[in-house]
Formats: sequence, structure tokens, C-alpha cells
Amino acid sequence: MSNTGNEKHVKVLILGSGPAGLSAALYAARAELAPVVLTGMQLGGQAALTHVIENYPGFPEGVGGAQLGELFQKQAEHFGATVEFDLANAVDFSQRPYKVTTDSGEYTADSVIITTGASPNMLKIPKEVELTGRGVSYCATCDGWFFKDKKVVIVGGGDSALEEGLFITRYASSVTIIHRRDELRAGAILQKRAMDHPKINFIWNTIVTEAVGTEKLEALKLKNVVTNEESTFETDGLFVFIGHTPNSQMFKGKLEMSELGYIKVNEKMETSVPGVFAAGEIADPTFRQVVTSAGMGAAAAIQATRYLEEAESVHT
Ligand code: NAP
Repeated sequence: MSNTGNEKHVKVLILGSGPAGLSAALYAARAELAPVVLTGMQLGGQAALTHVIENYPGFPEGVGGAQLGELFQKQAEHFGATVEFDLANAVDFSQRPYKVTTDSGEYTADSVIITTGASPNMLKIPKEVELTGRGVSYCATCDGWFFKDKKVVIVGGGDSALEEGLFITRYASSVTIIHRRDELRAGAILQKRAMDHPKINFIWNTIVTEAVGTEKLEALKLKNVVTNEESTFETDGLFVFIGHTPNSQMFKGKLEMSELGYIKVNEKMETSVPGVFAAGEIADPTFRQVVTSAGMGAAAAIQATRYLEEAESVHT
């Protein structure tokens, strides 16, 4: 990394510190490219908010999400990556070196690997925003403890809803999973565990239309989508797990994206701008697993290395 005033120049700048970003950092570091990782808001990405990850190979007993992130970071740093607690907020890919403006200054980079991931979707119902942190939450690992011996509702029917619901049973007196259909999207193992759990019950074909409460969440207004019947359900907590939206706002108009805002990449993790790569959930609406994100990150770094080698050979 070289410094000119408040501007730092790097060969490989990685935006995001989830499994994709830190795996890219490991591979770029081992290629002696001294990559710099800008952590973004969440060191370790969404995976760090997961209590236990049971499907990352090499950990037969499971591994804590935050712990896995720390191990990824340590391994990347061991080979020469630098991890900066900084947030990118603007990019200029119109000419090389590319410019990235952050909270603390400006970077120029010969190549950029984008691994900014995705953020949880909100229900977009009245009082949801006001009551966030006052009973409404999007992270069981972060907030589960506050619901000791309390009644909790989970919205969603995917793996996240069931996995986090099972986690909250450690604290809550009861967990009610409200799903808009009568069939879950989650995998069979999680379905069986949730169905068999004595603290978990389900409300089917139902949506939450409003959060109720002033100082804190007190109840939810529900609507059965088959019968249109409306009801009120008293609860202390509402955890929302209804999918994610890619964190790609910053790249609008600068990189090709899908309608849903995922950055388009080819099989080499190349975006529409040469030397700019994307990996992990920002570019993957399909798999979104720690292991697939890590694999994409490694592939992006290998391709960035090739790109830099080719660019260098053209200039010499
Ligand atoms: P997801 O699979 O997209 O599931 C989202 C759930 O929310 C669906 O059941 C969906 O209902 C429901 N939903 C969406 N919008 C809604 C709305 N406005 N109101 C009410 N319900 C709504 O998301 P995810 O569970 O976060 O999982 C994301 C990815 O990560 C998946 O690929 C998943 O396999 C993976 N993941 C894996 C694990 C694991 O393997 N242990 C753990 C967590 C996540 P419908 O079913 O009706 O569409």
C-alpha cells in the first residue's frame, strides 16, 4: 500500500469482510498482492451473526459464525492482507486506477473485488421501524438473549426463519413461526427439528399487517390470506427472516446488475468493468452459503491476480 496525502494506492482493494471478502483476501495475499479489506459495517458479514454454522466443511461439530470470521481474518492477515475498519461509500470505475471513497479518505486500486453482501428485508408494515430494537429484530444471535422467558414470533418459512427460531428457543418461553403459505421453503432437516420442538408452533397462511406498541412491541395484527380473517396476537418479540436485498446501491449505473440488484458476473467473477470482480451474496441470488461465497471469493482473487499479471505484461 502506498500513501499520497489522504489517498492510498493498493493493487487489490476488497470491499466487505464476509466469507467472500476474507477468502479473496487470503488468495490475493498468498499471490503477494498485499490486499486491503474494507470491513464495511459488519466485520465477518452476515455469517458472523449466525450462532452456529453446521454446514461449513471441516467443522463436524459446527462453528460459531463470528469465530469462523475471526479464523478467516487471521489466516488472510497471516499471509499479508490488511483489514481496515472502514466503509466504502462511493466508487469511480470510469478510469484506472479505480477510485473508492471511504469514511476515512480515498483509495486508488488497480483492481477491486466487491463482496458487500446483502441486508435483511423488512416487512414494511406500520410501526416496524419505530419498534426496531424495542421488540422488533432481524438478528437472533444479536438480540435473542433479550427475550428470556418471553413470547416470540418469527416471520418467514425459509432456512433462516427455522434456524433462528430454533436458536431463540434457548431463551424464549414460546416461538410462533408465522408463514404466508402452508408449506415451508426450508430444508428437510430444519423442518423436522422445528416441527418436533416442544416450544415451536406454527401459524399458516398468515401475514403480519401491523406491529402494535408505543414504548415497546406489545402485539401484532395478523391476516389469514385464505379466509381474510384478521386477528391480534400478543407477543414480546418479532423476528423477521424474509430474505435479503443485495448491498449494491453504490454500484448502480456503474456495473451491470440484475433487476433485483445483484451484480452480474461471469464464471470468472468478472463484472462488466475489467479489473472489477464481485463475489458472494452480492453476486449470488441462488446459493448464498458460507462455503459457496468463500469459493466465489477465492475465484475472484485468482482472476484478479491473472488480470493484474496481464495488465503488467502489457505495460512492460
Ligand atoms: P429465503 O429462502 O428467501 O426465504 C424467505 C422466506 O420469507 C420464504 O419462506 C418467503 O415465503 C418468506 N417471505 C418473503 N417475503 C415475505 C414477506 N413480505 N412477508 C412474509 N413472508 C415473506 O431466505 P432465507 O431463509 O434468509 O435464506 C436465504 C438463503 O440462505 C437460502 O438459500 C437458504 O437456503 C440459505 N440459508 C441456509 C442455511 C442453512 O443451510 N443452514 C441457513 C440460513 C440460510 P415463501 O416461501 O412463500 O416465498
